[in-house]
Amino acid sequence: PAASRLPRLPRVLALANQKGGVGKTTTAINLGTALAAIGEEVLIVDLDPQGNASTGLGIDRRSRQVSTYDLLIGEARLAEVVKETAVPRLSVAPSTLDLLGVELEIAAQSDRAFRLRRAIADHMARAESIRGRNYTYVLVDCPPSLNLLTINALSAAHSILVPLQCEFFALEGLSQLLQTVEQVRRALNPELSIHGIVLTMFDGRNNLSSEVVAEVRANMGDAVYDTIIPRNVRISEAPSHGKPVLLYDFKSTGSQAYLRLASEIIQREKRLRAA
Ligand code: ADP
Ligand code: MG
Repeated sequence: PAASRLPRLPRVLALANQKGGVGKTTTAINLGTALAAIGEEVLIVDLDPQGNASTGLGIDRRSRQVSTYDLLIGEARLAEVVKETAVPRLSVAPSTLDLLGVELEIAAQSDRAFRLRRAIADHMARAESIRGRNYTYVLVDCPPSLNLLTINALSAAHSILVPLQCEFFALEGLSQLLQTVEQVRRALNPELSIHGIVLTMFDGRNNLSSEVVAEVRANMGDAVYDTIIPRNVRISEAPSHGKPVLLYDFKSTGSQAYLRLASEIIQREKRLRAA
């Protein structure tokens, strides 16, 4: 199936990095919340079978009868999957462990890489005609792997946002990820761009963190956002309360950093769209 042009709205950003524990889910939840707080209409699509983004946004497992699994196998439309959250203007398409089986189920289908892209496009086409939600941002939380789920995210996305943890070996694996982006661009989605790299879990008391920042900036230049997300215990506590850190502790350094990241992303979007 040929890749038709992506609609201009919503802006679809895939949060991807095949390393686990680098801050993809935390960034999806809290960047999504910050964008919604600024007035954007945001949908988070949980494409990780672990469902941490869904849990962290307070969607309990019992209320996930319809999930992104049903969306990808073509048994449900986006509007049937989406749940509201406690944050105004922020919705989530939750996931369940069923997603683990999706890859096998759709492997033989020729449109297997475009399932998410089509679900979003269908939704937007309907949202215009009925009273559906017109999202301005869709953030896709990817699993820690370059599998078919991540490929679905990358072929649905205008751009990729890469969280990198401020730790030794931060850059390791990045070239493989960038190669995948290049392959997806050539074969599936010519519009895919790199939105930016966000450094996460920065620890100011640790020299290593600053060295990593310098190294990543030296290698990746302007691709790295000015905003750095600090290591902040409030960020790690919030999910167990089913809340984004902005609802759990608005004044925390973590909340304030995600608000800055949101405005930086909106600025970058304006420049990308003007170009
Ligand atoms: P990923 O989705 O890439 O696997 P997560 O977002 O789940 O990574 O983050 C991994 C762990 O690190 C989680 O327990 C999360 O709460 C914690 N964490 C993420 N970002 C921060 C931060 N800035 N400060 C403190 N803990 C964080
Ligand atoms: Mg995750």
